[in-house]
Amino acid sequence: MNSICVYCGSALGVDPAFQDEAIIAGNLIAKQGLTLVYGGGKVGLMGAVADAALAAGGKVVGVMPADLVNQEIGHKGLTELKIVNSMHERKWAMAELSDGFLCLPGGPGTFEEIFEQWTWALLGFHAKPCGFVNVGGYYDPLRSTVQQMADKGFLAQKYVDMLIYADTTAAALQAFGSYVAPAPKWGVAPVEQRY
Ligand code: AMP
Repeated sequence: MNSICVYCGSALGVDPAFQDEAIIAGNLIAKQGLTLVYGGGKVGLMGAVADAALAAGGKVVGVMPADLVNQEIGHKGLTELKIVNSMHERKWAMAELSDGFLCLPGGPGTFEEIFEQWTWALLGFHAKPCGFVNVGGYYDPLRSTVQQMADKGFLAQKYVDMLIYADTTAAALQAFGSYVAPAPKWGVAPVEQRY
């Protein structure tokens, strides 16, 4: 594993533990020699994780649509800030550049991004791990909702179980190291059909 994509809030959230974990995550990713791939912003937990990785001497690649550079305040100190044309291009580029997807607490953008990667994974478009750092139980309701999808017949249990939940970033990254992707839902998609 060479690079980790972190999805997280463009706000800090109300619990200081969220920011603390973002700083731990950035530091740990850098110390493990992994490149951090993220949305490229300077605000919220996104900025905290990037600043921590840079402070620890890590390589950080941000990917941002041009029309968000002002709102999310494109981080000027990154190893590389890729400016792309659209949100779809951003998400595709972040996915391509990364070997795993780690979700810290965040809002709708964060959920949308990790759900996209999870659904691509279960379709077999990639075999990379998706995980949540469940700071203060933030992802407990989501975990229940995902379990309900299986309980009510919309999802096979193996695609519930493929998601990694951990109390700490360290534990999540350790689980990433031994992740084995389940068999894809419809078999492996032909390359031209992916994304
Ligand atoms: P949020 O979790 O809503 O604070 O947003 C976190 C990141 O997700 C930010 O970089 C947003 O630009 C991004 N984002 C917001 N909405 C979307 C969306 N619909 N699809 C993908 N990313 C989004």
